[in-house]
Order: sequence, then structure tokens, then C-alpha cells
Amino acid sequence: MKRTGKISATPNPIIISGQTRVGVTKLVWSCAGAKEVEVRIGAPDGPLFSRSGASGQATTGEWVTDGMTFHLQDVSGRRPLLPEHTLATVTVGVKMDRVVRGLILMYHRIAELDADPWSLSVAPGNFAEQLAVLRRAGQPAPLARALVEMDLERETDPLLVVTFDDGYADNLYQALPLLEEFRIPATVFVPVNYIGGRRFFWWDVLDLLLAAADLPSEFRLRIAGANYRWRLDEPAPRQPRRWQASEMPPETARERFYLDLYRLLRPLPEDERSEVIDELLAWAGLASAPSDPYRQMSLDELRRLARHPLIEIGSHALTHRDLPDLSPNTQRDEIERSRTLLSRILGHPVRSFCYPYGSFTAETAQMVRDAGYACACGHFVQPLAAGADPYQLPRVMVGNWNGEEFARRLSAWLRP
Ligand SMILES: [Zn+2]
Repeated sequence: MKRTGKISATPNPIIISGQTRVGVTKLVWSCAGAKEVEVRIGAPDGPLFSRSGASGQATTGEWVTDGMTFHLQDVSGRRPLLPEHTLATVTVGVKMDRVVRGLILMYHRIAELDADPWSLSVAPGNFAEQLAVLRRAGQPAPLARALVEMDLERETDPLLVVTFDDGYADNLYQALPLLEEFRIPATVFVPVNYIGGRRFFWWDVLDLLLAAADLPSEFRLRIAGANYRWRLDEPAPRQPRRWQASEMPPETARERFYLDLYRLLRPLPEDERSEVIDELLAWAGLASAPSDPYRQMSLDELRRLARHPLIEIGSHALTHRDLPDLSPNTQRDEIERSRTLLSRILGHPVRSFCYPYGSFTAETAQMVRDAGYACACGHFVQPLAAGADPYQLPRVMVGNWNGEEFARRLSAWLRP
């Protein structure tokens, strides 16, 4: 049987606004049947970009030029790099000359946490300073208005859109009062199956383990037929608040444990991951359901937030999984049913979608369009430019910066 595969790039085309003629994109691929695949640049035997099992994803550096083609090659059983073993190709466009219209900002939580290795939270004081900067730097706008105005011909101050992902209760109690004070609108994306706050997000459990005062000295785990064992008694944990997983190599046993678990759990199917999470919670002696500041909004809290005139609620799918990893039917269900359920909860149609982990393919984006959404946000560092695809909206993630640092980053992001 002839093997087939899929490869796609997002964003595609890459929109660039500066003087460089190169851009960055994220490639996602999968195939049925092949054990090992390679992604080659320009030709079946061109330079190697990445190698994986049956599916994979990787982000390029800033070197993709207009018209560059990526070949997904079946190399199972040492198949040679020939055109007959090409499973799929994707050609990436790089487009220039778009006018920068603004920026979509991504927040998750307004909270002070004991450990935050991926910088997902902004302290309330810093958030207030950031909002003051937004008021001065341009026009804070709801997502829907930014979508219309980004294509208008007239020159305007930059449109600045605030969004929140994941539906934490602190969005209502910490963020909303400050948004009100500065009269800044926001869109809040909620993963529908997490409404009610009865389940932990898996990454929050890992954060709690990183910050826990005492843990048993050993943890054993069996995943996909492999056995793992960690010793946690030395060296002593350093200040968990200081460690940033994307910037600093792990130094303590606890940090290595965290990173190992993160890498093992992220690709696991939902039910297997939940089992490991339950095991970890029991092992560490932690409560099985989240409390503040790790709790998501209840139904009542979500409705209260939704009624506020500054707030729009959007869908963040049902279960917060990487959509491109799922079968087309399951993807469609995540996209369509989350809209139906959320529209019923809110009493009006939901217009905006946000891809969990920022992951999507061209097919995913098409499903979002077919489901009746008006737009979808991704996660890649680009300003909002005239002519942007409403189903591949760029967003930049905001860190726990004070007003001065935030103002500096903002002007760098908006620079044409
Ligand atoms: Zn999310």
C-alpha cells in the first residue's frame, strides 16, 4: 500500500513587515504507516530540517524564503531520499509590504505564583502598569473591531487587543477590575470541558510539584512500555520562582524531574495523561481538584465575566489538546461542539476561537471557518498587519514585566 502523509506550515504565507526577506514558520507533519520520516528543504535529498517518528512538529529559524518547499520523506528502513518516497510537500510563501496595524497580546493569568517556569502569569501590579502603557501607546480595541479596522486604508494609532487563555478564575477577580479601571476590552478563551474548575490543567500539577516544600524521595513511572525512576532528595531545590524552563538549563533534581515529566506528558493521549496526573497528585499528597490560584472559572463566574461590556468570551476548544495530533473527526468535534456548548451557556453565538498551544494546520483553520467562527488566534510573534488571515491571527505573549520593560517590548513588536 502506498504510504501517504501530510505536512503543513503555519503561518503560510509568512507576513513580514521589516527589511528582511526571510521569515519563521512552524511545520507540522504526520503520516500513516511510516516509522521514521525526515523533512528536507528544497528537494527530496535537500538539507535536513528535522527527523521524527510518524508525526512531528518543529519551528524554523528566521531563514525561510518565499517559495521554499519542504519535503516529507519516508526514511523507514533506510529508504533512500528519492521522489518516490516523498509523502507530501508544502511550499511556504513570504509576503512583504503589509502595513502594521496593531498587536494582539496574549495573557494567561494575573497572579503571583510560587513557580512559573514558562512565565504564564503576570503579577497584578505589573498588569496595572502594562494597561497604563496600552492606554498611552495606541487604541485598545476589542478583537472584533480590530478585525474590521486592520484592513481600513486610513492611518490610525495601533490597535491593541488584549486576550486571555485558559479561563482561570483570576481573570474575573484580578484582571477584570483592572481592565475596568483602564477601560480596556479583552477576549477570554476558555477550554469548555474545564469550566467548573474540577480538573487541574496537567501543566499546573507540574508547577505545584516544582514548588512543593516536601516530596517523597523517589518517583517511579511506566509510560508506553518504558520504566522511569527519579530520585528527588538532592541537590536541594533552589527558589522555584526563579527558574525559567525556556532560558535556564535544569540544575536541581527537582527541575530535571519537572522537565522530564513535561516532555513525557505533553504528547500523551488525554486519558493516559490524566492517569499519570492522578498518580502524581496522590504521590505528592496534593488535593485532587484545583483551588485558587490554579482554579478555572465556575459556570456562574464565567457568566458573570461574560456579561461585562468590556469582555468577549471565545472558545479554546473542549479539552485543550494539540488539534493537529487528533483525527479530523475529533478535531471537528473539539471545534464545533465547543462553540455549540459555549453559545448555549452564554446565550449568544460565539465568534472567536483560539488554538490550544497555538497549534494548527491549514485543515484545522478551515474547520474553524466552517464551524462559523469569525476568527482564530494562534501564537506567533508578528504584529497585526493589513490583510492578515482572520483564522491565523498572530499573538505575542506578555511576560511579568513592569511598565517600562513592557513599553520597550511593545514598541519593538510594533516596529515596521
Ligand atoms: Zn491554552
